[in-house]
Amino acid sequence: MPSCIICHLNVDENTDSHYTCNNGHPVHRYCLAEWLMHSQNCPLCSEPYSQNLINQFKDYMEKKEQEKQEALDKKLELETIKKMQEATKKIIFQKYFEINEKQLKQGQYEEVIEKLLNRYDENSVDENNLKVLFLLGKANYLKGRYDLAINFLFKLVKIKFDYPDGFLYLGKAYEKLGLKDKAQWAYDRVKESK
Ligand SMILES: [Zn+2]
Ligand SMILES: [Zn+2]
Repeated sequence: MPSCIICHLNVDENTDSHYTCNNGHPVHRYCLAEWLMHSQNCPLCSEPYSQNLINQFKDYMEKKEQEKQEALDKKLELETIKKMQEATKKIIFQKYFEINEKQLKQGQYEEVIEKLLNRYDENSVDENNLKVLFLLGKANYLKGRYDLAINFLFKLVKIKFDYPDGFLYLGKAYEKLGLKDKAQWAYDRVKESK
C-alpha cells in the first residue's frame, strides 16, 4: 500500500480520497488541501500540481484565507480596544492626581490623605499606585507629619529607586526632623536617580 508523502500514513486506494503529482507521488485529499495553502508543488519532487487539480481546492483555500483574515481582524480589534481602555485609564488617573495636587496646594491635606489611603494598594507596584504612595508622603510632609511622610516615601523609593521627587521629599522630611545626615543621603539620591 503506498503512503502519503505528507503525513506518511497509508493511502488506501479503495477508500481514501487521494491524488498524485505527475511523478506519481500520492497524497491524501485533506493533506493536499493543507499543503496547497503553502505551495502548489509536490513536496517530494517539486513538480507543479496541475491547474486542474488546484482549481478543485480553490473554494477551500479561499475559505481558509478568509478565516485567517477574520482571525487577524478580530485580534486587531481586541488590541485596539485594549489600547483604548489603557488610554482612558491613564486619563482618569491623570485627572485624579491633578485634583489631588490642586487640593494639596489649597491646604486640604486631611481630605487628600483620606482619599489616597482608600486608593492605596499595599501589594501593587503599579505606576499609579507608586504615585499614590508619593502623594501620601508629600501630603503628610505638608501636613507636618514628617514621620509618616518618611514612612510612605521610604516604601516608595524601596520599590522604585528612580523616583527623584520621592527622594526630594524624603530629604525635606528628614531635614525637618533635624536628621541632617539622612537628609543629605536622600538629596544625593535625587541627583543619582534623575
Ligand atoms: Zn496524508
Ligand atoms: Zn511528486
